[in-house]
Amino acid sequence: MTLSYRTGIGYDIHRLVENRPLIIGGIQIPHDKGLLGHSDADVVLHAVTDALLGASGLGDIGDLFPDTDPAYKDIDSKILLTKVMEKLTAAGYAPSNLDIIIHAESPKMSPHKKNIAASIAKLTNLQATHVSVKAKTNEGVGPVGQAQAIACTAVAMIQTTNQQ
Ligand code: MG
Repeated sequence: MTLSYRTGIGYDIHRLVENRPLIIGGIQIPHDKGLLGHSDADVVLHAVTDALLGASGLGDIGDLFPDTDPAYKDIDSKILLTKVMEKLTAAGYAPSNLDIIIHAESPKMSPHKKNIAASIAKLTNLQATHVSVKAKTNEGVGPVGQAQAIACTAVAMIQTTNQQ
């Protein structure tokens, strides 16, 4: 029996615009703007989903859920992550932990970090202590720093579940 571990990285960025809800890590955050995208534009769930796909070698979010496909218009990204979790399970993997950085100048993410971690933990069958959510501003620099966009970087570790 060999237990093996693999890691993956995910990154995403979406523009902040008016007249959209702000969905971050599967929860809605009160703000006067939201993220623009074909789906609900949940930048954090997209980065986490890509990190899990990267770790498992199962492709990327753009391959699996193309933004040209009307089926994914305004789709709840929790559904996309759940589909990827099913693929991971079928391939014999389970997440071990996630480390996530949200790059956002506005709104402040720190009051929401715990709720975001709990939401992602539930979606990935992890304990909340195994989902680290960190928030950073971009020091006023560039599109993220000027609150024109929110970005996310995520690292996932996964482990084999089947005894080989
Ligand atoms: Mg995205």
